[in-house]
Amino acid sequence: MTPETKPLVAGNWKMNGLRSSLDTLKTIASGAAALVGKTDMLICPPATLLREATSLCSRTALRIGAQDCHSLPSGAHTGEISAAMVADCGATFVIVGHSERRDFQSETDAIVRSKAAAAHAARLVAIVCIGETGAERQSGETLNVLKRQLAHSVPDGATATNTVIAYEPVWAIGTGLTPTTDDIREAHAFMRADLVSRFPGNGTNMRILYGGSVKASNAAELMAIVNVDGALVGGASLKADDFLAIAGIY
Ligand code: PGA
Repeated sequence: MTPETKPLVAGNWKMNGLRSSLDTLKTIASGAAALVGKTDMLICPPATLLREATSLCSRTALRIGAQDCHSLPSGAHTGEISAAMVADCGATFVIVGHSERRDFQSETDAIVRSKAAAAHAARLVAIVCIGETGAERQSGETLNVLKRQLAHSVPDGATATNTVIAYEPVWAIGTGLTPTTDDIREAHAFMRADLVSRFPGNGTNMRILYGGSVKASNAAELMAIVNVDGALVGGASLKADDFLAIAGIY
């Protein structure tokens, strides 16, 4: 990330949030005003809240995104939501390839790649999630896994503007565990070099977020690591104070 690029602090509410949670969103949106020009802030609520969330935040600095989209523009896919539908709600980002979807919905790199391409076609910013499992880390495979996932999950049309990478070690999600700062530095430097070589002119500025048990108490240390350009936050994004404390460390 170069000085012109702002960090992104993104919250993924996962399958949490009813309409009563929109008060939390309002508080986060008010807090986002103080961070304009310093940090981009995003909340990805469940799809049921997308439209109300975008209306509520339309005149604020808080951006709204979806947690997933289908790879096809329309058709007989009961229960699915296309990237165009996400954009039609007023959202500007979409998370693709979160490890919970790779795991529970058996999403492969190829599926993730086609979802990211669909997001781009709908003019959404795709947040492409990658990360090794605990077993892969134990067997020393972390960088190979990241290389493979970057190669096969990120579409050729990715640019620094339409794509964000989120590095989320699967074993760090929701567990309270995080890699050491050295391990995160190594992983992010590796991803940066990979992106620079595949996307000359874009790889330097493409934001690479860290995700997995980010909270107010560890955010400053994690966000200070070179090539960590923000955070993807799960549990701690459900409480406005916690999320604003994380975003406010920049
Ligand atoms: P966590 O989740 O912050 O609750 O660990 C992160 C994520 O899944 O994006």
